[in-house]
Amino acid sequence: MRLRQLYLPSVLYAMVAGWLMWHGLQALEHDGTLGATIASGRNELVGPAFVGLVLVVVVCEQLWPAERRSALARGHVQDACFFVLYAALVVPLVTVIGVGIAALLVGHASWIVIDQTAAWPRWVLVIVTLIAMDACNWLAHSSEHRFRPLWRMHAIHHTQEELTVLTSFRAHPLVHTAGFILATVPVIMMTADHPMAPMLITVYLCLGTVPHANVPWSFGLFGRIIVSPAYHRLHHAMEGPQNVNLGIVLTVWDVLAHRAVFPALGAPACRTGLAGRPIVVEQEGLRHRPVSVLLAQFIEPFTVVKPSPVAATGSADASRLHTSPT
Ligand SMILES: [Zn+2]
Ligand SMILES: [Zn+2]
Repeated sequence: MRLRQLYLPSVLYAMVAGWLMWHGLQALEHDGTLGATIASGRNELVGPAFVGLVLVVVVCEQLWPAERRSALARGHVQDACFFVLYAALVVPLVTVIGVGIAALLVGHASWIVIDQTAAWPRWVLVIVTLIAMDACNWLAHSSEHRFRPLWRMHAIHHTQEELTVLTSFRAHPLVHTAGFILATVPVIMMTADHPMAPMLITVYLCLGTVPHANVPWSFGLFGRIIVSPAYHRLHHAMEGPQNVNLGIVLTVWDVLAHRAVFPALGAPACRTGLAGRPIVVEQEGLRHRPVSVLLAQFIEPFTVVKPSPVAATGSADASRLHTSPT
């Protein structure tokens, strides 16, 4: 690949992630806790409770699907590959990057630590921190839809045409960097001296994973506050705006930003994916080659995309890669 074919913002993004990882590795090697930290990261992010929940939801998808399809549909198999990659590679990567961000913040911006939180009741501290983390994740997600360099990384997540709970893991390995940078800030601010129980991170992760499930659940009245599968599905809709329903766990940020679209009761499941398939997807072609699709999707954000004739004419179907979704 020639230099002018490289999309430089993505290269820069990868360099920042590498730099944060290097900082994280240095801090962990200095403390001699590299192995233990990665093991506890695995326990928090892909432990037995979390994997068990994912498996239960996979069964629910077959029993009460929003869109009926085979358990071995291409989209399911592809997202299962993403899940394996997540457990094997992404979890250690984001754990080390998280340590790197925390080390930099504590080392160079220790003034952000709010000492007064030490006097707060434990449960208040936990709730406030989780809400602040969710706000930061909303901000990161909103930025991924607003700014083209971030959208190039996030777009892979939106290519899924057969949404499943495993779509939560369908993401570029580097995409977690921006979210982690933002989400680490409130954790350092509030709980620098008394870390949160890993169980709470797992609970938060579960709440953020279920909304991708291929089930029609809208959670009734709770769905006005908590992101439900029916609510998040509208964010993945192939037709219509994608800068709505950006919430990860709470809908309140979308409501405040006038970006909340609540699902209509009994409405049929909308189609999901990116119109015009600007990125390779597993649904095209006669044979499914999961590894080729995976590699093509990982390389794609690093390549310059030439505007297609369709995009140049300003058609409504123009590739969302050029403009970021609206
Ligand atoms: Zn999105
Ligand atoms: Zn999603």
